[in-house]
This record gives sequence, C-alpha cells and structure tokens, in this order.
Amino acid sequence: MCGIFGYIGSEKATPILCRGLKNLEYRGYDSVGIATVSSQLGIRKEVGRIDDLVSRLNIEDVEGSLGIGHTRWATHGPVTAENSHPHTDCFDKVAIIHNGIIENYLELKTKLVERGHRFSSDTDSEVIAHLIEDNLSFSGTISGSESSWNGSSFEDACVAAFKELRGSFAVLAVREGEDKIVAVRKDSPLVVGLAENGTFFASDVAPFLEWTKEVVYLENHDIVMAEGSEVRFFDGGFAEVKRPVSTVEWDIEEAKKGNFDHFMLKEITEQAETIQRACVQDMAVVERIASMIRSGFGVFFVACGSSFHACLTGSYLFSKVAKLHVNVVLASEFENYEHFLTDRTLIFAVSQSGETADVLEAVRAAKRRGSRVVSITNVMGSSLSREADELLLMNSGPEICVLSTKTYTSQVVMMGLLACALDGNYESCVQKVKDLYMDVYNLTAKSMRDRLKDLARDLAEKDHIYMIGRGLQYTTALEAALKVKEVSYIHTEAFAGGELKHGPLALIEKGTPVFVFVSRDNEDRIVSNAQEVKARGGYLIGVSDWDNPVFDRWIKVPDCGDLNPIIQAIPMQVLAYELAVKKNLDPDKPRNLAKSVTVL
Ligand code: GLU
Repeated sequence: MCGIFGYIGSEKATPILCRGLKNLEYRGYDSVGIATVSSQLGIRKEVGRIDDLVSRLNIEDVEGSLGIGHTRWATHGPVTAENSHPHTDCFDKVAIIHNGIIENYLELKTKLVERGHRFSSDTDSEVIAHLIEDNLSFSGTISGSESSWNGSSFEDACVAAFKELRGSFAVLAVREGEDKIVAVRKDSPLVVGLAENGTFFASDVAPFLEWTKEVVYLENHDIVMAEGSEVRFFDGGFAEVKRPVSTVEWDIEEAKKGNFDHFMLKEITEQAETIQRACVQDMAVVERIASMIRSGFGVFFVACGSSFHACLTGSYLFSKVAKLHVNVVLASEFENYEHFLTDRTLIFAVSQSGETADVLEAVRAAKRRGSRVVSITNVMGSSLSREADELLLMNSGPEICVLSTKTYTSQVVMMGLLACALDGNYESCVQKVKDLYMDVYNLTAKSMRDRLKDLARDLAEKDHIYMIGRGLQYTTALEAALKVKEVSYIHTEAFAGGELKHGPLALIEKGTPVFVFVSRDNEDRIVSNAQEVKARGGYLIGVSDWDNPVFDRWIKVPDCGDLNPIIQAIPMQVLAYELAVKKNLDPDKPRNLAKSVTVL
C-alpha cells in the first residue's frame, strides 16, 4: 500500500516526479524517495512527505529525463530513511520501487546473502534489486518460455527476478546507463499513461491526469518495457501483447483541491452532486443484477471499513424494502465463509478504489468456486471493475482524502437503488435521491459548518465519544463513529440502542458525550435508550428532525425515511472534519492510514 510513480520522456524527470508523488501521497506517506537515471543513478529518499524531500534534498536539481518515485506505507521494517524506497543492489546500479508484499522475501534474502549480497534495509522489497543484480549475468532468452523479447540483459534480469517473487507487487525498475523503465504488476495496482512528452506509470490515474488522459490498464502479471518513446507490453508468459488505450473521463480540476483547505471538506461538499451521479446507472445492468439476486442461492456483500458500513446499511434496506436476506461479511473475515460458496452464490464486492486487497482476495476465492461477482467501485479500470461479472460504478469522481465521505453516501444510494429495483420501485427511488439535493446542500453550507465547529470545540478534549441508534440509525452510528475516530483520534464507539443495557451503559459517566441518531419510525425506542444514558449523567446530542427535550444539544436534519442514513452521515462527516482542524490534525492524511489498502 503505497504510491508508485514513474516517468520516461523528453522532459526533466524530477519536477514531474515531485508533482506526481504529491498527487499520490494519499496512498501512503510515511516516507518518500526517487531515483533518476542520467550518467549516474541519482537516489534521494527520506522519512516525511514529498514537500520535505523537495526542500531538504534539493531534489529538483537532480538531472535525468527518466525516473521513478515512491511514497511508502510501511509493511516490513520501521519507518526509516534506509527502509524508504527506492532500494538498490549492492553497487547502486539498479534501483526499484515496490508496492505490495513479497511473501517469500526471507527465503530469497537468505539465498542472496549466501551468494554474497549485502542488504541495507529491513524491507521485503530490497530483494528485488538484488535479484535483478544477481540475474544480470543471465543472458539470452528466458528458459522454458516463448519469449518474444529480443531484449538486452536488464529486461531479462528483471523478468527472471519477477518470476521468483511470490505475493503482491507492482514494481518499477531502472538501471544506470539504460534509458528504460521495466515494470510488472501482480495483485497490486499499476497503470500506464501515454503522452506526447513521454510515458507515465502510477498506482492510479489521478497522479498523471495533468499530463495525459490516455491510459493503459494492465492485466495481472503484465510486464511493461518503456524505452525512449516506445512502450511494449508483455503478458505473464512473456509474449508481447497489445493492451487497449482508454481515455479517462475525470477532469483534472476534479482531482484538485479548488478553494477548499482540505480535500475532505471539498469532498463532503460535493455530495449534493455525487449522490445524484450515483443514480446514473444503466437500467439493463441494474435489471440483470436484480435478477441475479432473485435467483442467487446465498447473497454475500463483502467489503471493509466505510464500504462495510454501507453494505450493512444495504442489508437493512434489502430486508425492509425488498424483504430479502443478504449476508454482510468483512472482506478480511470472508475466508471463514468460503465453504458456503457454490456456483449459485452471488457476491457483491464493494471498494472505492477497486484495489482493496482483502476484497480482491474474497472475489478470487468466490470465482474459484464458480460464484458470480458484482463489483461496486469508483474506479473504472481497477482490478475489481475488471474481475467482476457485472459492474456498478459510483461515479463520485476522484476521492483524494484518505477518509471516505462522498463515496460512502454514493454506496448507500446504490444499496437503496438495488433494494428498490427488487421491489419494482427503482424510478421512485431515483426521484427521492434527486429530491435530497437541497437538503444535502444545506447540511454542508457554512451556517451548518459553523454550528458543528462550535460542537467540535466542546468535544475536542474528550477522551471518549459514544453513538447510539437502532436499525438504519445503528449502521449510521457505526459509520459516524469510524469517521470521528479515524480523523480526530478520539476513541469513538457506536452501539445498537438496545445493547446499552447489556454492557456499554457501564461506560457512561457524568458528561460522557453520546450522539443519538433518531428516525421517525424508531423514535420512541431510541429516545427511551437515550433516557437510560441521561439517567447516568450522559450528555446527549440528538441527530434528528426535531428537538426532543431529552437532548442537551441538537443537530437538526430533515427526516428522509429510508434515505436518512445519507442525511445523518453528512453532519457527522463535517463534525469529524472540524474536530481534526480544531486539534491541528491533517484531515486528509490521518496517521497510520492510507487510502487504498492494497495489502492483506
Ligand atoms: N512492503 C514494502 C515496504 O514495507 C512496500 C510497502 C508499500 O507498498 O508501501 O516497504
């Protein structure tokens, strides 16, 4: 889980690498590094963010019109300059960057050390550079394969090294004296951008949108050889292949921050639009998916984090609207359910990036057992979009902030659309979402933000915050708690209202803040639960359409029935944002987290 960026072309590489890496920081950002090739290999790497590297190491002075860069999210070895990428061979002639995990690195490292290689980091990734070095004596064609590569020894050395790797990896490799980048992807994301001024490599398209919208999405196991202005693609069997060029629809402006201080606030504010865009679906596809659900014997929704909460919300909507039972399983726990899978099972795999490793693993397990897969993702061309039998896109535009905001509400919209499609009410659901426009707009307007800023000031020093709800308000509370904890670092936990008396009430002391999510259809029971909290001294903050006397504070939201999970999540996103700002934390890049979790 990290960001990879590479450039080979007619321009100086370092300014391009720096801009590309800056755009990639949301994927991982504990350390950064670049390698450029001119007469010598130039390596600069450091703990910190790209801006630190640029100013401290005079990075833009490094010469060369080809280079690779990396923002790291450590999996193997602590966050140190030595463990930052790029990693090199014993003589600093070969440099690689890697996203993923090399599962057999210890075995490879032991062999390489026995052969005299000296390692300078604790990472799994470094073995790749030494393997290439070790293979550089290797010449001729790749044994046992139908290679159409007439290539020189650097490519062959790379391919031979890639063949030895197990695990997940997107790798870019360069070598001193060679005007080439050699790349591979297996179970980690990597896309190629084709422009007049050169060829770009990145973990996703957003980082190179300012240079090109022409993109090649790689297949798993693909190898790419970029030399001068030429790019060649090879499949896992080393046969040269053609890969289609797609044009990205996203606007570069959409990927930038505009007038907002942070992407998080920009993305929260976009939701009046993005929930509408989530409704732009191909009816024929929705109908096909609805009939797959009807004929499926066992329907599983598989996701992580906020997407998991959207799926849980979906399970309540399916039950309530379509009277249909679906299972919702955390992707990382899905292996425990695999023995239920048959060719009649239907899997919904939900991931903003479409690259979430846990979700992809679940999809692959399901496909091995012949189950059909529907993907819900925001990124066209992502692994999930390509590995599914049917695809629904969130159409939210790029989400740069590490926290999901607009893609969460889009997912909830899509759950509602599917539930209504099963009930024959698709069009009326679309209309209801359209009718939310002004409500959502008002919830993100300045007046609302000012009120939530006041509340954030009062909560910023709290150690614990609790949230309660029932039914659709319980799943909303789960998502609200995740939002607050991940960006403010305040311990925040959600409970089903009815569960309080089975344990959590013991946590309530005088002044403990407890948010109460209320809907007209569960008001009486959740207000009784709120009374139980109040009786123990809790400080109640109601999220509802009217100010119940039991509340100490009130966040006013309209009652929108089954769409309340959208309406009630939004002020909580704003509150989470204001808490982070109040605590001088960076809302776009919470500590220890990264946007796209591409490791298991
Ligand atoms: N496993 C590698 C490391 O720990 C790469 C991690 C990443 O994808 O950022 O350095």
